[in-house]
Amino acid sequence: MQLVTSNNESRMIAPKLVFPLIMTAGLLTTQQLMTQQVAPALAALIAVLLFGFLAVPILERLMPYRSDWNRNEGDLGPDLIYMLSNAAIPKLWTPVQVFVLVGLTTWLTQQTGSRLWPEHWHWLPALFLMLLIAEFGRYWVHFAAHKIPWLWRLHAVHHSPKRLYWLNANRFHPLEKLLFQIPEVAPFVLLGTPEEIIALYFTFNGLHGLLQHSNIRIQCGPLNWLFSMTELHRWHHSKKIEESDRNFGNNLIVWDILFGTYYNPRDMEVEAIGLLNQSYPKSWFGMLKAPFAGRDLSKPKGYQCQTKVATNPQSD
Ligand SMILES: [Zn+2]
Repeated sequence: MQLVTSNNESRMIAPKLVFPLIMTAGLLTTQQLMTQQVAPALAALIAVLLFGFLAVPILERLMPYRSDWNRNEGDLGPDLIYMLSNAAIPKLWTPVQVFVLVGLTTWLTQQTGSRLWPEHWHWLPALFLMLLIAEFGRYWVHFAAHKIPWLWRLHAVHHSPKRLYWLNANRFHPLEKLLFQIPEVAPFVLLGTPEEIIALYFTFNGLHGLLQHSNIRIQCGPLNWLFSMTELHRWHHSKKIEESDRNFGNNLIVWDILFGTYYNPRDMEVEAIGLLNQSYPKSWFGMLKAPFAGRDLSKPKGYQCQTKVATNPQSD
């Protein structure tokens, strides 16, 4: 990590407004569209496209955190393929994910006929309840992905970029996408969550993921004790294991605080991003195969997840 000297940026208002404005605008858009009889899945899709896929790349150009992270390092092509190819399986690139998951989860919920959900709650506390429940499962799946070698092999695809920008939110191995889907969808189905709350959840989740990985200069201040936003998540992508084995939260950071993995040092910025393994594949197909390299899938552990490095751990 490196110490940050004081500068005028900390006094600027725009970095503090990006996160609350985008999230509020997205949620209110979904909510308002639903009151106009727009189908919840379509309402969520429109909000994520407008305030995520359109606004986030523009804001990356207007107020970048690091201007060099806006340069294509040959990763744009594979990331676009990941975004599109992940649409071929049930956990999808963000807009399609929003559309299909809202529909799928709502249908499953109706099939079970569960009535456990507190139906008369206002949508805002109901959304927060849903986030808390879903985040608990996702925290432990993500934690396991960093600690269990064969899961790490899958998860390393997500940690392989050397810069953070909006498309990193979609760079996941398809098998890991499937795995992460279980704790995300199961609570909705079991509790009988209303369709409108599901749509708001996936609006929040979609926008949060894009902002969380974005190269926008975002400052969250005290909200860093509630949400797992950019400033916290950059540490999670650090090259240093002692920094990246922190902040596992997907949307909320509360479970990290509770389980002792919260990390937000004052006046410090993350240095290098990515894997220790310099020879990690960069092509889409290479990354698809990478988790299965080597005979013993239980080795190697940690960040040296490719056989080449395993045989020569000092090479980095
Ligand atoms: Zn991770």
